[in-house]
Parts: sequence; C-alpha cells; structure tokens
Amino acid sequence: SNIPSVTLNDGTQIPQLGFGVWQVPDAEATPAVRTAIEAGYRSIDTAAIYENETGTGAAINEALAGGLAREDLYVTTKLWNSGTRDWSGEQGRDAVLREFDASLDKLGLEYIDLYLIHWPRPMHGTFLNVWKALEQLKEGGRVKSIGVSNFGTEQLTRLLDEASVVPALNQVELHPYFPQGELRAFHAQHGIATEAWSPLGQGGELLAEPELARIAEKHGRTVAQVVLRWHLQNGVIAIPKSVTPSRIRENLAVTGFELDTEDLAAIAGVATGKRIGPDPQGFDWN
Ligand code: NAD
Repeated sequence: SNIPSVTLNDGTQIPQLGFGVWQVPDAEATPAVRTAIEAGYRSIDTAAIYENETGTGAAINEALAGGLAREDLYVTTKLWNSGTRDWSGEQGRDAVLREFDASLDKLGLEYIDLYLIHWPRPMHGTFLNVWKALEQLKEGGRVKSIGVSNFGTEQLTRLLDEASVVPALNQVELHPYFPQGELRAFHAQHGIATEAWSPLGQGGELLAEPELARIAEKHGRTVAQVVLRWHLQNGVIAIPKSVTPSRIRENLAVTGFELDTEDLAAIAGVATGKRIGPDPQGFDWN
C-alpha cells in the first residue's frame, strides 16, 4: 500500500494507518489480522486486555513464515492496569516486566515495535514509576519504542520534567466529534506523535453525519474513508478496526484524494467535544 509513515522522536517510523483489534475475540483475531495484512496493513494495534494477543500473533507469525520481513511489520501492544496496581518500588517494576514478557510470549515475537501504558490512572500516582520500567524495557531492546495512551497534558508534563525518555506517541480518543485540538498542539510542541483510537467514532452516528456524507459523495469515497483521510491530513496516526473484509480493505484505500480547506472546515463543524469512551483522568478499571 502507499500509506505514509510518521517518524517518531526516537528515529523509528510507524505507518500512519494501522489495524486495531479491540473487541475482536481471540479466535476471530487470526482471520481478521490475516485479511488486514493481505490487504496491505503493516501496523497492528492490540493490548493485553483485549485478550487476543495469541490470535493476533498467530496471524503475524503466519505472514512472517510466508516471507514477510519482521522489520516490515509494526506491532503495538499495551500494559494493562493490573500490572501497575500496587506499585511499591522494585516489586512494581518486576510486575511490569512480567506483564511485558507475557504479552511477547502470547504474540510469539522476539520484539515488539511499540509498548504503551494503557491508562495513566493519575489517582494512584504510579505512572512515572511505570514509565521508568518501560524505559528499562526499551533499553533491553525487546521493545523498539515506548509510549503512552490516554495521558493528559498534566501527566505528559510530569514525564517531560522527570523521565529520561519522552513518549514516542500518545494514543487517545480522537475523531471528528472529539478532535483533541489542544492536546494535539501540546504533542506537536513536545515532539510526541498523536495516535487516534476510535478514529471512526466507533462507526455509529459519526458515519451517518449528513455533512460527512456530502463530502464523501463529492470525492466519490465513503464516509469512513473521508474520516480516515482527515486523520492523515492532520498528521495523526489512525488505527481503525473492522472484522469485515470489504471494510478492512476500504479503510486502507485512503490515498489518492485530498480534502480541501472547505471540506476540513465542514468536518470541524461536526465537532461536539463529547467523548465516546471514559474520561481518562478518572478511569480506574482493573
Ligand atoms: P473505530 O472507530 O475503529 O470503529 C470501529 C467500528 O466501526 C467497527 O466495529 C465497525 O462497526 C465500524 N466500521 C469500521 N469500518 C467501517 C467502514 N468502513 N464502514 C462502516 N463502518 C465501519 O473503533 P475502535 O475499535 O474503538 O477503535 C479502533 C482501535 O483503537 C481499537 O480496535 C483499538 O485497537 C484501539 N483502541 C484503543 C483504546 C485505548 O484505550 N488505547 C481504546 C479504544 C480503542
């Protein structure tokens, strides 16, 4: 595919469009990821809590056995909250290292490209120590890049002030209803890439927006393609999810057209400022 890459602050590159597998059961993850790789996706986003690292890894290893080079694939997984629950010095760090080993083992890989802290859980005051454990993992070489997810400017500022490694990216809820303008500006200022979760707004109401349908018709594209194009033109990395082969392919066909300033203004007009997911500042689920 001709999907562009984004260069991260550690010098590595990530495809700007990837394939997300949240809510895909383990057994279905294998055919879904297989279809995605066959369609041309080269970046896969999973997490320990999705409980599909095994099925995801099976499809990845199938592709590698079929001749795809490991360095041509980009694999992300995330450290779940349980691994960071009762942080007390060394013990907490060891728990993080064990969680990482478990993910790598389920994926059946020798290294992963990107490891993220899934949620900051600022009420526990542990994320800085957790981040230091990720720094250690990066040094060990079995993860090429480290980043965060659902962090706000307050937590990012703390890492910028007190940690050694600046997060390569922050993966956050981002779609035309919730465009995250302020956070994106903060990221840009500090060399942190922005990655959008639920880039299609989870596929419901957003994809039925009349204004978006009008833009889609103008370009002879689908609304999903217009929304993904919007992410790419904003410099945002997007990881749409689908288990439907035709949609998996459709979501990758987002090059070869350009949204103009009028389109971008119309898309800005649908913003509601409302999240679909939980507010990360208060989210504390185990
Ligand atoms: P999404 O915005 O990617 O929407 C997916 C849904 O949209 C699908 O289930 C389907 O119903 C619909 N859809 C997909 N393609 C379509 C198309 N072409 N036409 C019509 N409908 C279509 O939502 P998501 O799965 O929540 O987010 C994507 C990925 O982001 C996840 O799979 C996961 O990898 C990641 N994620 C991360 C976090 C986090 O906390 N870090 C949270 C949520 C999701």
